[in-house]
Amino acid sequence: NAKRQGRNRYLFYREDMEGANLERLKLETELRKARDLGQLLLHYQPQVDSRSGAVVGAEALVRWHHPDFGMVPPFKWIDLAEELGIINEIGEWVLRRACSDLASLHEEGLPLPKVSVNVSALQFTESFVHLVDTVLKETGLPPEALELELTEGIMIGSQEGAVRIVEELKALGVRTSIDDFGTGYSSLSYLTRLVLDELKIDRSFVLGLASGERNAELVRGIIAMAKSLHLEIVVEGVESPGELAFFQREGADVIQGYLFSAPVPLEKLRPLLQPAYFERQIQRLTQKLAS
Ligand code: C2E
Ligand code: MG
Ligand code: MG
Ligand code: MG
Repeated sequence: NAKRQGRNRYLFYREDMEGANLERLKLETELRKARDLGQLLLHYQPQVDSRSGAVVGAEALVRWHHPDFGMVPPFKWIDLAEELGIINEIGEWVLRRACSDLASLHEEGLPLPKVSVNVSALQFTESFVHLVDTVLKETGLPPEALELELTEGIMIGSQEGAVRIVEELKALGVRTSIDDFGTGYSSLSYLTRLVLDELKIDRSFVLGLASGERNAELVRGIIAMAKSLHLEIVVEGVESPGELAFFQREGADVIQGYLFSAPVPLEKLRPLLQPAYFERQIQRLTQKLAS
């Protein structure tokens, strides 16, 4: 009896596996074609100066719009694109589009100082430096208007290699940022070895704030460390006025989160770049908190 149940369970398990495998196979097949079929697009999320409310940059976030699946969120397919070895093509498309979009905004006279582009650890090779150089020349974008968001995953392979590539990017004049800080497993020593400009505090720390003073202390520690390393501090995933007030008080430089704006298509970013758009919002929020 038990044996029989066991066998049934095994059968169910197999059927589930086949279902999952089929779904994955379909996703794989479709993902391989996505870029060439023009199914990829970029959304932009503004990064806002925590005190003045000025937009200091925008992060480019890739979107996959499939005719049948609809919008497939990145967490469902970025890892797969890495496994399939197509993250390089996708990353190249993202970089080109982000740089050309910002160059167009500049031509229109819209004041967006820089765009941030996410870079997979798998893209992080010598040829990536050449690609960045090429794309900057193609688009005419000044190097300081491009920021590359790296993760500590780049330190997993050859550390010397990663250190050198960051230095070469620096030599091109682009800015570098460490994304999802504090969520990986590597030693912190990489922070002293890489010539970075910015550190992004992961959203998980913002969520943690709600559950007590020890989490607040942890965030204060991260901010103090980043400041002593002269890194600009960007906070990801700020959703509430209370969270904004906390990070203003603690001296974080830049806020990125739904409180100001979700990631939006380029045409919806334009109005957010009008003078004093978030300035007024910050003033209102600060007055409300003070009263
Ligand atoms: P990330 O680089 O850490 O990007 C921030 C993520 O947090 C984005 O999710 C953004 O929409 C979300 N977010 C921002 N503010 C808030 C908030 O206030 N509340 C909440 N709940 N979420 C917020 P998204 O766009 O789904 O991207 C997820 C991840 O996918 C990114 O995390 C990044 O690791 C990866 N990704 C996105 N675009 C690219 C790309 O072009 N290349 C590569 N390699 N990875 C990418
Ligand atoms: Mg990012
Ligand atoms: Mg992040
Ligand atoms: Mg991330």
